[in-house]
Parts: sequence; C-alpha cells; structure tokens
Amino acid sequence: MSEYTEKTKFIDLVTQQDRIRPNLEEAIKKVLDHGQYVMGPEVKEFEDELRTFTGSKFALTCANGTDALTLALMAWNIGPGDAVFVPAFTYVATAEAPAQLGATPFFVDVNEHDFNINIESFKQAIIDAKNMNLRPSVIISVDLFGYPSDFDMIKKISLDENIKLLIDGAQSFGGEYKNKRVGSMGDITTTSFFPAKPLGCYGDGGAIFTDDDELADKIDSIRLHGKGNQKYDNIRIGLNSRLDTLQAAILIEKLKIFPEELELRAKVSDTYSRKLENLNYLKVPKLQDHVKSAWAQYTLIVQNRNEIIDKLQSKDIPSVIYYPKTLDTQDGYKKFPSVSSGLDVSHYLMDSVMSLPMHPYLSEEKIEEITQVIIN
Ligand SMILES: *Cc1c(COP(=O)(O)O)cnc(C)c1O
Repeated sequence: MSEYTEKTKFIDLVTQQDRIRPNLEEAIKKVLDHGQYVMGPEVKEFEDELRTFTGSKFALTCANGTDALTLALMAWNIGPGDAVFVPAFTYVATAEAPAQLGATPFFVDVNEHDFNINIESFKQAIIDAKNMNLRPSVIISVDLFGYPSDFDMIKKISLDENIKLLIDGAQSFGGEYKNKRVGSMGDITTTSFFPAKPLGCYGDGGAIFTDDDELADKIDSIRLHGKGNQKYDNIRIGLNSRLDTLQAAILIEKLKIFPEELELRAKVSDTYSRKLENLNYLKVPKLQDHVKSAWAQYTLIVQNRNEIIDKLQSKDIPSVIYYPKTLDTQDGYKKFPSVSSGLDVSHYLMDSVMSLPMHPYLSEEKIEEITQVIIN
C-alpha cells in the first residue's frame, strides 16, 4: 500500500475502498445470492436512504447523471421551441440533455465568485429568448465544483417568469444551502454517482429528487419505458434508465461514511485556502456563509496557469483544468444561442482555472507539499 501514499493522486478511491472493503464484499455477495440484478431490494433501500439524507419527498435512481437531467426535462415535456438556460461554463451533459430532446440550450454567463449562474445574465437571456420566439421554459442551474448556487435568487426570477428550476447537482450532492441539503430545493434536482463525484459508485448511476407527487410518478414511468399500472402497459414514450442493484448495494455502504467524508473534504479545502489565500497571483474559493460545498473540486483562479501546472507536474503532482473550453466554443454546441450581454466571465474562467488534488483522504503533509510547489 505504501506506493499509494507516496504518489499524489488527483482523486483517491483506493483508501476509501480499503476502509470499507469487507462491507462492500458482503453487500455485493448479497446481491449475487438473491440474483435480482435489476430493480432489486437494494435499489428501494438506497432510494429511502437518499430521501432521508436530502430531505426530499421523492428520490428516484436512474442510470447516470445525464439521464437524470433528460428524465426531468421529459417529465416537463420539454422539446422543440423550448429555451433551456444553461451556464456556458459547465460539463457538457448539462447542455446535451436539452439538445437531445430537440430543445434549445441557451448559454448564460456565470459568476466569478462561485462559478454558478449569474442572475443579471439569466434575466437578459430570458428577454433574448423571447425575442427569438423561443419559450423560456427551464433553467438548469449547475452547482459547479460542489458549490450550491444562489438558489433563492434564481428561484425568485424563475417563479416570476414561470420558468422551471432544474438543479444539476451532479457535483454538489452533500452540499447545503441555508441548512438544507442539495436535493431538497428546486422543482427537480438531479445528481450523478459517477465514480469521481463526491458520492460515487463503481460504474454509472444517477438520481432525481423532487417534492412533487405527479412529477415523481411521471419520472418513475419514464425511467421504465413509459410504464403504466399494468406490466405491459406503455402510456408514454420513455427510456430504459435504471440504477443497477449492484451499484445501489455499493452506494448504501458508501453513503454510511459519506457525512464524515464531506467533513474531511471541507477540512482539505480549508487547509489549502489557509496556505494559499495570501498569494497575489491566485484566488482561492470563497463561499458565502449560508453555503456548504460538497467540494467535488478545489478550484483556483490563477494568473500564470501554465507555469503553475508545469511546476506541479515536475514534482509529479497532478492538476486538471475543469473546463478548458466553454460550451459555446465547442464544435458540437456552437450553433446554439448565447446571451446578448456576452459570456465574458465564462471565457475568462476557461483560461484561468485549475483544480488541485481533492479527496477526503488527502493528508495535511500532502497539502503542504502541493502548496509549497505553488508558492515557490
Ligand atoms: C458528471 C456531470 C453530469 C453527468 O453525470 P453522468 O453520471 O456522468 O452522466 C452532469 N452535469 C454535471 C455538472 C456533471 O459534472
């Protein structure tokens, strides 16, 4: 095991696995014994635990975080003619889901302080969409890097304009806003259990949260081929999007240590920030008091990005740029509209952000080693 502690990892899934390995093996063995690989009892059990954890009335698991977004949009019948506002600075899945349904992803700028939807830009985009004869239908607010967005501000505008609020919490599961966990806000919240996310499984997985009975019912039908009440009833066009029983069994075990891991992540981030906050050539993340990040990433804004990345690389310390291209600059997405006031902050961020190693098991000594390379 010593090589593992020597080399700095960007994300360390091995330490966690070593810690709970016997429980994972026992959980997997149980599934092998009962053989209900699809929609087995662990899926229901995990969904119950997700409801308790988030405080959301309904939790429905599905195949991945991208499908979770698609299922939410399908439940609202989103399609051609609908403008779905998305940040330009996010992972591609946020825009891919509406584009797949024939809707128009509409790019909005973000804030420099939390990387999330900028309110003024959102307001302008609503006006722009109407001028283009699109229906302003949904805003997908992404909690980038784990920081919950300013939910109250966004909700106020979306309510005024009758726009649905979909929170893409793929990176923020476990985060909090005004003492409420991500999953209990928004008309619908989605998340991902991709291995590198704060709560990850050993494959693909996702979930959808809502307090709305009718929506929950619809999503449950859509994820199972548009099922009705009878087994071979199909009352709408759906998808095949389920969380595997094996993944649910693994997630049940991982969720048990997740609250502790969230605290460890917050500690790692505090330690980084304490060591780096006085440097004039970079900005450390600063969160508002009422927000708790899930710390999917620890992301800096730096002036001399290439230089810092090279220095780290020379010491064998990995760093990653999330994201080197905004979506409006991606070949597959250039044809979609952007807000008329521009995407200046998004473009600035794609040229200046970098993320440092982040996981719950990053030691104080490692953080010291990493930050010393950046400082010197
Ligand atoms: C990872 C991610 C997704 C997609 O989740 P998958 O499970 O990989 O499909 C969607 N949105 C954001 C912001 C993500 O980071």
